[in-house]
Amino acid sequence: PIFELFDVNDLVEKYTDLAYQGKRNQYSGFKATIKKDLDPYIEEINIVGQEVGQVLLNVIGNSLDAVLHKSKTLGDFFEPIVKISTRKAEGFVEITISDNGPGISEEIREKIFEPFFTTKPTGEGTGLGLSLSYNIITHGHHGSLKLVNNDGEGATFIISLPILKEKL
Ligand code: ADP
Ligand code: MG
Repeated sequence: PIFELFDVNDLVEKYTDLAYQGKRNQYSGFKATIKKDLDPYIEEINIVGQEVGQVLLNVIGNSLDAVLHKSKTLGDFFEPIVKISTRKAEGFVEITISDNGPGISEEIREKIFEPFFTTKPTGEGTGLGLSLSYNIITHGHHGSLKLVNNDGEGATFIISLPILKEKL
């Protein structure tokens, strides 16, 4: 894997589009609002672009699945929203992906990072997305991937990546 300087906002833009297009091809009548709030002062960081991109595809893809699932049951009364933001913190860049889907119950919370854990129908989910993403972010990049408790509805995931000027 090759570590190179990347603009995280560019990466977020690119993989958000890819995730969105992917779901639009996968589901007929797909509709979701994506709201982006990207910190303009974020600096370039050393990462493996392809790998972090894969993580974004997984996590954003999961959020889109979640809101679409909910809109199938609630219909037009429900407005599916996925919010993606970036933020520069002390020594870290944070990417937050949050949705207003069904959320993640207490029992499921403990299992979502395990390989092959999925609640999706056969053929729709492999259960590998989050375990792979966890490995890429923690072991591969010395960062963290967390599901944060959000009061109210939906799920929020935070990806933190260390601001490294040198390659790992
Ligand atoms: P897959 O997407 O193939 O099921 P993942 O590892 O990506 O596998 O996710 C594992 C499980 O975590 C999902 O099946 C789902 O139950 C849960 N999950 C992940 N993200 C969300 C989310 N944003 N909202 C609700 N549930 C989620
Ligand atoms: Mg997934």
